[in-house]
Amino acid sequence: MVPTGDVIQLLPDHVANQIAAGEVVQRPASVVKELIENAVDAGAIEIDLIVKDAGRTLVQVIDNGLGMSVTDLRLAFERHATSKIRTTEDIFHIQTKGFRGEALASIAAVAQIDALTKKELEELGNRLIIEGGTVRDQLPVTSPKGTSISVKNLFYNVPARRNFLKSNQVEFRHIQEEFLRVALAHESIGFRFFHNDSEVYILKPGNLRQRIVQIFGRKIDAQLVPISEETDVVKIHGFVGKPESAKKQRGEQYFFVNQRFIKSNYLHKAITDAFENLLPSQYVPSYFLNLEIDPSKIDINIHPTKTEIKFEDEYAIYAVLRSAVKHALGQFNIMPSLDFDQNPDWAFIPSKPKNEPIRVPEIKVDRNYNPFESKPTQKEIVPTQNFYQSFSEFEIENNHPKTLLSKEEFEIGELQVIQWMNKYLVTQHKGELLIIDQNRAHQLILFHKLTQSISGNALSQRLLFPIEISLSSSEIEILKTIEMDLVNFGFDVDFQKENLLVNALPTDVDTEEIPSIFSDFLKDLEWHGKVDFNIEISKIIAKNSAIKKGEPLLAEQARHLAQQLLQLSEPNFSPYGKPIFIQLPESEITKKLS
Ligand code: ADP
Ligand code: MG
Repeated sequence: MVPTGDVIQLLPDHVANQIAAGEVVQRPASVVKELIENAVDAGAIEIDLIVKDAGRTLVQVIDNGLGMSVTDLRLAFERHATSKIRTTEDIFHIQTKGFRGEALASIAAVAQIDALTKKELEELGNRLIIEGGTVRDQLPVTSPKGTSISVKNLFYNVPARRNFLKSNQVEFRHIQEEFLRVALAHESIGFRFFHNDSEVYILKPGNLRQRIVQIFGRKIDAQLVPISEETDVVKIHGFVGKPESAKKQRGEQYFFVNQRFIKSNYLHKAITDAFENLLPSQYVPSYFLNLEIDPSKIDINIHPTKTEIKFEDEYAIYAVLRSAVKHALGQFNIMPSLDFDQNPDWAFIPSKPKNEPIRVPEIKVDRNYNPFESKPTQKEIVPTQNFYQSFSEFEIENNHPKTLLSKEEFEIGELQVIQWMNKYLVTQHKGELLIIDQNRAHQLILFHKLTQSISGNALSQRLLFPIEISLSSSEIEILKTIEMDLVNFGFDVDFQKENLLVNALPTDVDTEEIPSIFSDFLKDLEWHGKVDFNIEISKIIAKNSAIKKGEPLLAEQARHLAQQLLQLSEPNFSPYGKPIFIQLPESEITKKLS
């Protein structure tokens, strides 16, 4: 039926809130994160987290912070109601965890809420009871200073989402992780965490080292190497684990930017780079690092749950971080102190020797890798002998390392790039003209990013409406063989009889590309079988998600793309072995002009 007349209607608030809730509240752990962050923002110095049945029946957070007035308590549960920003300008100076004013409204839309709060100077506190977004009761009560918010029976009114929840064990692990992220970023706040009436953590206020030891146990103390570096762009403080404490699985990797936990494969790479040659491939060092950056130089607004972040001075931060970690490892006699690279990696493009066969950048994959294996012996981890040998090519200098790269040196990275024919990026480098294939360049960049996220720390986006792909039952069976690989990349899929449901996907992937990506997976599996499929998945996603030939780019995008490419240590060939750019020396141009 084709409707006539006006057809647009505003969604009723409760529907809008439920949709918004899909973004903010994915599972009980999301509630834990939002409530604890609010308590921190309210200036609490003691925070209790009480959880029942992995958060299905209860998540309660009690704090001794500022509390709320009667009106504020009511307003707090309205959408876009926040005390943390007032003008657009404020968004660029955010010091608090929250600022969107969405969390409480979203949670209230999909649960039952019992909130109590009292401000210090008020005699009586207030209690508010909400069910499915509707206020049921509000009354004055006696209560201590601060706020307690109980979220009961999460998703009681959205069975589809309730069914999404995984086992209690999995949900509990997510909660624990969210709790630790906040607890590690706020060592001066005391935290207590109870699950089903037993105590999980009691964390006294202290310094970061004490907090880490309280959480991960005494043994970690001797493994912590302090990092401390202050530059104009970023201040870095915290610890990295000594090389021998590195593990094959990802585990204790924590970056905080202005005391907010963030995920960043890019910064992770800066650290693994600094550990280069100290660890066999596949081993991941642990780290607990706080980066302090001027809030106007970062954009935390790109993801509703805010674990991703964009930095204005990405390259500088990378270089400072890498040097700071190298320096610290050197100072603590973990490695000889080195001559820090004079040239940032991105300013160096190895030119391809003539007649050399094309080489696909290789990634080492350990086929014997067993995630359930216990920690390997020390000897395996630090091959001291080789490690000194591998440094012999560097100059081993006196004991005080060079100062960090200055701001001017980063400017080398400020390339002038123009896009030509919507296909090529033209720039110059060391007196040569470079013509870069934009599609292949982006393929390689994505490929690198993806292979780095293989260990299960992939950034993933959950879809409000799963994508459905119809397939034959034999195709479903084939895809089942790579289910774990898909999970590691940030996919969440459900296999039905003749349907594949994609509930979540890696952040770099566009939903429109999903059908062609899965059809490529199938082709590839039918063709090669399941060999090194992590690499295949990365190649396929990179191929499908890369900027296409013919796609116009903004000047800034073109520059960023060229820069990211030139920063790779092997920028010459695409994941499928095709050349990415050509170099024209001036002599060739002079010849043509003669
Ligand atoms: P945001 O944190 O983005 O502002 P929320 O929906 O999480 O949005 O919270 C809305 C508002 O409710 C906050 O801005 C704050 O003023 C108030 N609030 C929430 N939790 C607390 C708390 N534990 N103590 C005091 N005020 C709170
Ligand atoms: Mg909040």
